[in-house]
Amino acid sequence: MPYLIPAYNRIPISFTHGRGVWLFSGNGKKYLDFASGIAVNSLGHSHPSLLKALEEQNKKLWHVSNLYKIPEQYELAKVLCKVANFDAAFFVNSGTEAVEAAIKLARKHTRRKKIISLTGAFHGRTMGALSVTAKESIKKDFNPLVPNCKIIKFNNIEALEKAADNKTSAVIFEFIQGEGGVNLINKKFLAKIFALSCKHKFLTIADEVQTGIGRTGHFLTSDYFCVKPDIVCLAKGLGGGFPIGAMLTRDAISNSFSHGSHGSTFGGNPLACAVSLAALREIKQVSFLKKIKENSEYFLNNLKQVQKKYNNLILDVRGLGFVLGIEVNNVETRDLIIKTLRERYCILTTASGEKALRILPPLIASKENIDWFILKLEEVLGSI
Ligand code: PLP
Repeated sequence: MPYLIPAYNRIPISFTHGRGVWLFSGNGKKYLDFASGIAVNSLGHSHPSLLKALEEQNKKLWHVSNLYKIPEQYELAKVLCKVANFDAAFFVNSGTEAVEAAIKLARKHTRRKKIISLTGAFHGRTMGALSVTAKESIKKDFNPLVPNCKIIKFNNIEALEKAADNKTSAVIFEFIQGEGGVNLINKKFLAKIFALSCKHKFLTIADEVQTGIGRTGHFLTSDYFCVKPDIVCLAKGLGGGFPIGAMLTRDAISNSFSHGSHGSTFGGNPLACAVSLAALREIKQVSFLKKIKENSEYFLNNLKQVQKKYNNLILDVRGLGFVLGIEVNNVETRDLIIKTLRERYCILTTASGEKALRILPPLIASKENIDWFILKLEEVLGSI
């Protein structure tokens, strides 16, 4: 495409509008959106509460600088901290910025430099976040990256014990690696991260950019794993489609940032905060989260049945909540399934470079939507 820097490999479809779990293309075709803009459209498309919040705030005020008190930002911080059980929030515009803020805060708080991250990790593409991201192919052209970033083997306790010490400022991890191939963190490994953080006094940073804000049927996936990280990074579903990210932490840590330590021109602007607040008010409902758990378990069980039928193609199905993965026998099969599903009006995404299809439905996806997807998936698998 002329006029655009070719940083993306674009599929030749353009969508004109969306309603609920459906996306509509220019030629009038209707697609089941089980990618949600990569885990972003948590309440689907054109959700009435988000439209209302956007329209109301639209008439009042879009942007004012963080040099002033912003009531919408304060209200969002209050709700987010109360539901997530943290003390303080810093708002940004994306996941990578939430990770940058976390890395800076960890360094400033501990006065140490070393950060440990894990193989398979994806934390973003700005220089700090890229430095703790594992994938060499997306890093190699941008050296030198931030020094003192050590990547150790995912779920390997021995490697963790060897790397973590009193020079470590933080360990950053995802509970479910999305880009890495829908890999769940091992509970013993996770417990070891927290045990070593007590021993060596480093911080734990949970990157919940993808898994946070209800995606797994828990407000935060930290709740499912019963751990309390020192810092949590959020973005994607936080604005229900409107760009916003956040870093949450406790008072004892947040006080290490003082005036001038960090900043963002757009982060936490009134428009983004008003929409995000409307999204949170829906998602934090116990009944809403319960429905996600119920429907996602139904989905996983159905996928397991499909795996049994097509075990020549499918090696594994896994995931938690609405972060689901189907691992197939090779990357070519993966791409063929995604392409053929798209031709049958179902949209999915991949875990780039991995053999897994990533299923990230809007959190409002119903059992009927799931049944429809399974039907299409079986048609596609049967045709290969
Ligand atoms: N962290 C995780 C776990 C992600 O999945 C992503 C994006 O896919 C990011 C960070 C970066 O977020 P963004 O693309 O909004 O900068």
